[in-house]
Amino acid sequence: MDTQKLADLLYPNAKPIEYWLEKYPKRNLKRGAEVTRLAPSPTGYLHTGHAYSALINKLTAKKSDGVFYLRLEDTDQKRLIDNAGDIAYNMLVSYDLTPDEGYRGDELPQIGEYGDYIQSKRLNIYQSFAKYLVEKGKAFPCFCKKSEGLEDVEERRQKQLEETGAIEEHDPCRTLSYEEIEEKINNGEEFALKLKSCGNPEKTIKVVDLIKGEREIRENAKDIVLMKSNGIPPYAFAHAVDDSLMGTTIVVRGEEWYPSLSAHLELFKALGFKPPKYAHTPVICKLDENGNKRKLSKRKDPEADVRYFIEEGYPKIAVIEYLLNLLNSDFEIWRTNNPKLSYKEFPFSIEKIGSNNPMFDFIKLADISKNYISHLSADEVYAMLTEWARRYDVEFFKTLTENQDYSKAVLNIDRETPKPRKDIAKWNEVKNYFDYMFYGIKNYELDGVDKKKVKEVINAYKDVYNEEDDKETWFARIKELAPKLGYATDNKAYKQNPENYKGNIADLCMYIRIALTGRKNSPDIYSIAQILGAREVNRRFENML
Ligand code: GLU
Repeated sequence: MDTQKLADLLYPNAKPIEYWLEKYPKRNLKRGAEVTRLAPSPTGYLHTGHAYSALINKLTAKKSDGVFYLRLEDTDQKRLIDNAGDIAYNMLVSYDLTPDEGYRGDELPQIGEYGDYIQSKRLNIYQSFAKYLVEKGKAFPCFCKKSEGLEDVEERRQKQLEETGAIEEHDPCRTLSYEEIEEKINNGEEFALKLKSCGNPEKTIKVVDLIKGEREIRENAKDIVLMKSNGIPPYAFAHAVDDSLMGTTIVVRGEEWYPSLSAHLELFKALGFKPPKYAHTPVICKLDENGNKRKLSKRKDPEADVRYFIEEGYPKIAVIEYLLNLLNSDFEIWRTNNPKLSYKEFPFSIEKIGSNNPMFDFIKLADISKNYISHLSADEVYAMLTEWARRYDVEFFKTLTENQDYSKAVLNIDRETPKPRKDIAKWNEVKNYFDYMFYGIKNYELDGVDKKKVKEVINAYKDVYNEEDDKETWFARIKELAPKLGYATDNKAYKQNPENYKGNIADLCMYIRIALTGRKNSPDIYSIAQILGAREVNRRFENML
């Protein structure tokens, strides 16, 4: 068949591919510079898996003085969600994963020489490459309606497998003559363009995955769709064209794409492009109700949407460090040895990513976050907390900002010391954590505590309490008071003969703590009393009596 004639018939107006190849020349980057990209489909909000990939992309590009860009894959028009692209970009920015190039939300102009970075605006480019494949005899039009349902396909494949031991997906429209095609076109019939696969599924090819190493995959034999009848390409074709023209050197994508890799490789070959390197990432999982491992699901798991962490008040850096810890298991040791450095200094490497699907672990996230928050100054905590509260807890925001100095003093309790307290994991916990400092005591935690003893201690202690005392004197006074009230100051003596005492000095301190905070546990009680001030301390003592 005269494929040039066919190409002109199918795509009379398409520009030759040379036009695009000239428009998008090779990038002028230093040797070894990697070009990476995040290519979300705006069919949902930014998934935690995207943040995970974005982090790999960003760190890899940065490490090699390369480029990380954002491309919007909006070719699945039926599933589009308003604003999802804009939200995706803004989420990347807020997690400090800002792309160097590409789509930047609906408000800002795109940056970069390789645009448009929105696939639906690149249809004429895909058409040129589609036409090129027809010219080369590597693609053909298919006029079949989508009448074959999924079940029919499976049944046919199963039959084929039983009869021949191999699945071939060659399409019946492959053999249409030029005249037949012309007639259909003249009749106004719509067509999809398909790849004329020349793969042999009995053969395998070796591929090197940057994460999983050498892998073997069956050759593609399927005549996959390149352009749908509406002129829009499905993922595979758009991926091959865009990543080639945009000069991507590493494609980081979820493992779920791995089974279609051989089709993608065949496509690159047909187009005459060198394929990029691939890194198929493990997929973040969790355990379901029955203890089975499953992928994080946007419908079932709030933590699948990166906005969740912001709403809950996890500091963004803590979330990033948690993801980094899932990616490179030596991050944790590095963090312990380098408590002051930014995670950006960590020697991240794609090759160090483990192959197993990691489990999302809230306890680990909380640990990382507590550790991070504990090293912040009171001013930093105040700034981040109020920024969060301004949006998510207006009442608390008012409380915090009405008396800034007082709020900072509270937030500074057990902070900015060599061993800061690691209690707060997210900003929505602070109000409850310190409610006795901001809203008074609503109820007392007294289970297992003898209220009579508390009263007796407070009654005596209120007379020796002096706001002017420094920490040492404050504690010295308690120590002095303890034996007078029958409490042991020597823990060993107390352990040997507990019956001789009403309790030990720790119990006595706990009673003071209960009177001042309503709780059996709290940060440093001396600091709490100092910040509350003598009037409030005395009022709380009176309330206890
Ligand atoms: N649009 C695809 C997705 O959101 C991109 C996969 C890729 O990165 O190539 O999963």
